[in-house]
Amino acid sequence: MSRELIFAVEDEAHIQQLIKYNLEANGYKILAFESGESLLTECKDTTPDLFILDIMLPGMDGLEVCRQLRQNIRTKNIPIIMLTAKSEEFDKVLGLELGADDYITKPFSVRELLARVKAIFRRVNTSSLPETEIIKHGDITIDCTKREVYKKDTLLEMPLKEFELLKMLIMNKGKVLSRELLLDKIWGFDYYGETRTVDVHIRYLRQKIEDDDDNPSYIETVRGIGYRFTDKVLHRA
Ligand code: CA
Repeated sequence: MSRELIFAVEDEAHIQQLIKYNLEANGYKILAFESGESLLTECKDTTPDLFILDIMLPGMDGLEVCRQLRQNIRTKNIPIIMLTAKSEEFDKVLGLELGADDYITKPFSVRELLARVKAIFRRVNTSSLPETEIIKHGDITIDCTKREVYKKDTLLEMPLKEFELLKMLIMNKGKVLSRELLLDKIWGFDYYGETRTVDVHIRYLRQKIEDDDDNPSYIETVRGIGYRFTDKVLHRA
């Protein structure tokens, strides 16, 4: 298998070095950039398997880079990890809303960086294995091979984490899945985030798949525990 290619943008030289050195030492190919503009320019020629975007950058910031990558047909499904400082809590949420798959809070350890990167590739690789190819429920259709979700005939924009979350819920329909379990299965053992991350992603999913996301009929909230994908037969016009 070819080595995964990672594009990382980070303007602080020592952090860029830390990322580059450690990912290379672990068998990844990495191209490091000092600005968002130079990363986007390189994307016209090459597309990587993963982006690591620092938020605070000279010129275009990481959030804008994320937004542009998500709008481009060639890069919109490539996983993104954002690097955020503790003081940028708001940006972290905004990054997830813009379609980032994960974030790492600075300062981070090498172990944490590698765990997140490995977790992303493990999920990407797992989700490309042949398994149940088409899952249908009500007017929702998931194509696992193409990693696409349709509501009726409309293709939904769905970042990797939301897709994995929906797939996990729908494959266990009728069962209550706790926030902790979802966090563990979707974000990985090495994820140090809080369970609120699950709630945020459930909210995005509902906005996409529910007719009325304030009165969800697919994803039910089980108070104090977590979520359940309904196993009721839904009759849709
Ligand atoms: Ca920076």
